[in-house]
Amino acid sequence: MINEMTLADYIGRIRSGERAALAQAMTLVESLHPRHQALSTQLLDSIMPFTGKALRLGITGTPGAGKSTFLEAFGMLLISKGLKVAVIAVDPSSPVSGGSILGDKTRMTELARTDSAFIRPVPSSGHLGGASQRARELILLCEAANYDVVMVETVGVGQSETEVARMVDCFISLQIAGGGDELQGIKKGMMEMADLIIINKDDGENRPNVAITRHMYESALHILRRKYEEWQPQVLTCSAREKRGMEQIWQAIADFQRALSHSGRLGKVRQQQAIDWLQRQTEEEVLQQIFTQPDFDHYFHQTLQAVKDNKLSVRTGLQKIKEFLQLQYS
Ligand code: GDP
Repeated sequence: MINEMTLADYIGRIRSGERAALAQAMTLVESLHPRHQALSTQLLDSIMPFTGKALRLGITGTPGAGKSTFLEAFGMLLISKGLKVAVIAVDPSSPVSGGSILGDKTRMTELARTDSAFIRPVPSSGHLGGASQRARELILLCEAANYDVVMVETVGVGQSETEVARMVDCFISLQIAGGGDELQGIKKGMMEMADLIIINKDDGENRPNVAITRHMYESALHILRRKYEEWQPQVLTCSAREKRGMEQIWQAIADFQRALSHSGRLGKVRQQQAIDWLQRQTEEEVLQQIFTQPDFDHYFHQTLQAVKDNKLSVRTGLQKIKEFLQLQYS
């Protein structure tokens, strides 16, 4: 187990690509135990100089879109090119259903058996902020362990998609063709976040529908404002099952990376992501500290009750809360 005495040794072992050491470091980073947290803070600080070199990809898609089949086919292509690949699966489902979407089946079995690949699920522990913070830290650990490409997978529901988009360089939405009227169902938010849209299952009798869907996405993308001046998001198709289209996808990702690196944008995006992350975490922390103060909690609930009983208007209630906070923090 990692402790103060063995920390430096572990960092050496992570750096030299020892998978067991990486897995243990990840477990340490995920632990909520205060002693482990102090140690993992030290660990993360020590590895910072070795981070930042991987290409960070986000992959989202509804359950059944073919994410794990795709990650396996695409991951194996990257490995055949001599790259080391890590997959971090952020599972948003647990707080709602108690079960998990990404972790409960045998996924990516071929990739999992390969020495050059590392797969790690991040179960969410109550609130999504926690899972996404851990996912960010796992990316850093993978980078310190010299993984070339880190793919963060998530399910295309709710906040988790946005969270993942905020921690990667290139955000990919994996879609499937519908019956032809799917444009109504297209989420504008997803299209604004995606750098690449990939329509999977381009095989057999799906092919005509995939072609129509591709065209619809392309038209929709052209009327949306671009996320980056340097990059027009592309729509590609593939068959993850037949392992077709993977090379073109890799080329498109390389084009994206080249365009954004050339202009210096990629570095700025990463800086901004780190700053935004700190800012959001700070806001959460400040709120938590205020709401856990017994005096405030009491006053707040008294005010809520007065509003509920129609004794105070919402405006006056808010004014009283503001005055209370001003007294406390002035
Ligand atoms: P996930 O839930 O998004 O991870 O989706 P899976 O990778 O588990 O795939 C869901 C189902 O779609 C499985 O039955 C796959 O075999 C199937 N599937 C995945 N990719 C393809 C594809 O390219 N073509 C076809 N026809 N089926 C696919």
